[in-house]
Amino acid sequence: SSPRKDFVGADARAVLHEVYGYDTFRGYQGEIIDQVIAGGDAVVLMPTGGGKSVCYQLPALVRPGTGLVVSPLIALMHDQVDALKANGVHAGYLNSTQSSSERAAVEQAYLSGELDLLYVAPERLNTEATLRFLARGKLSVIAIDEAHCVSQWGHDFRPDYLGLGGLGERFPGVPRLALTATATRATHKEITERLQMPKAKHFVSSFDRPNIQYRIEAKTDPRRQLVAFIRSLRVATDTEPPAGIVYALSRKSVEQTADYLSTQGIKALPYHAGLPAETRAANQSRFLREDGVVIVATIAFGMGIDKPDVRFVAHIDLPKSVEGYYQETGRAGRDGEASIAWMAYGLGDVVQQRRMIDQSPGDRTYKVRLGQHLDAMLGLCETVSCRRQNLLDYFGQPSQPCGNCDTCIEAPDTWDGTIAAQKLLSTIVRLKRERNQSYGAGHLVDILRGASTERIRQQGHDTLATYGLGSDLSDQDWRSVIRQMLARGIIVAQGDYGTLALGEPAGAVLRSEATVLLRRDVIGRAGTAPRVRK
Ligand code: ADP
Ligand code: ZN
Repeated sequence: SSPRKDFVGADARAVLHEVYGYDTFRGYQGEIIDQVIAGGDAVVLMPTGGGKSVCYQLPALVRPGTGLVVSPLIALMHDQVDALKANGVHAGYLNSTQSSSERAAVEQAYLSGELDLLYVAPERLNTEATLRFLARGKLSVIAIDEAHCVSQWGHDFRPDYLGLGGLGERFPGVPRLALTATATRATHKEITERLQMPKAKHFVSSFDRPNIQYRIEAKTDPRRQLVAFIRSLRVATDTEPPAGIVYALSRKSVEQTADYLSTQGIKALPYHAGLPAETRAANQSRFLREDGVVIVATIAFGMGIDKPDVRFVAHIDLPKSVEGYYQETGRAGRDGEASIAWMAYGLGDVVQQRRMIDQSPGDRTYKVRLGQHLDAMLGLCETVSCRRQNLLDYFGQPSQPCGNCDTCIEAPDTWDGTIAAQKLLSTIVRLKRERNQSYGAGHLVDILRGASTERIRQQGHDTLATYGLGSDLSDQDWRSVIRQMLARGIIVAQGDYGTLALGEPAGAVLRSEATVLLRRDVIGRAGTAPRVRK
């Protein structure tokens, strides 16, 4: 690493130039840095790639003492510390991966005032020993990264964050920053309260990522749809195959998808917590260094990965929350070039996730919260208006239709599904009332379409009044109807088998007091209008 330079008291813009090689601040960076250098607190909401690191690193260099950075991501700590050292900044970290002699060296450097920045995992700061140790040296600023982790209503709650609220009292006079790339209005408020920052200035950037095009399509055959999508990008860019991340829910699905993509001539590698550490490291490093690698991963992948030219992020399973979706899709296009967030989602996703919520350990409040997260995600999937508008609304930032999402590019077709919905509802009601039975989507569709299956004959379901009443719609149409009704809560999935029952709004639909406007699914539609340039 380069020899350490001393920037205490230096002009912030000069440091920006000398350490980072940038000429101007981006967005609110300059204001945030001025606030903190002057000794004030700051709450910073800035999207991924917005440039949060500079906001706390630079004040730490200019103010006397060491900047304490609280970060939950050990891999990210290592990367940042290495990058800082290469630029002549004296940085270190304290975490569980260190040997005791390494740790002692970092501690010594801190106490003698040689460290510019010290990265520490949140759980360490909940120990009295660490706090006492820190008090023996001098802190310049305290930065709390991924601050949304303090929110119990958020999607990524970490109990260790709750203890961080006490840092203000413990280190009076040391300015604090809380930073996050994802926060609804409620989470923003919670961060401010729980981290005890009532006097902080708030810097809220736009969460819009205009270079990311959002597309969500109905899932029929996800792996084949994924290949078609990736191929369409290649045609559009007319260059090297693009690098991308594919997110799947289970390890098995990760491996199968990576294998399938490979058989289709796409350079794909798996990544999940069940793989040996060496394999994970090797796959991650190929993704970062080689061109055109597609990494297929569970959500364990990507936190803190800074690869600027990820051209697409694909979801083949429904994310559990809009925050998660936004964070994952945000890994595309950090370089500002056109990129795509693509997702395939279907009836099975809704049933599966409702069931997971039902069966999750946790009290009612917890389940209600998970349900709300899922509902917001479903709302985004089923919207007939602009996806970006829906996303930004969710983060409390009203906007206009964007012109760069699938629904803007081609307005979705809608149709009046009231009668279809009534047919389904009355089938559910009759089975319950006449036979005290309930069934999942598959069998209900068989009844409505008048199928002659073993189970239908055995149960005598061909004598139901609604048998065959829905033969005007295809199997896939019915799945689309059911998915959308589930998303709106007109029906609900219950128990281990996801049997369907009436939801709250069902009564109004059955009495024809409410109409059910549905979107007509089109598979691969936006693939015909790719916008990726190179
Ligand atoms: P975040 O933590 O918000 O995701 P980073 O701090 O990792 O973002 O910064 C994202 C990218 O933007 C990095 O490649 C960084 O070097 C670059 N960057 C940050 N600030 C500036 C600036 N003022 N001018 C140019 N590039 C910048
Ligand atoms: Zn739009």
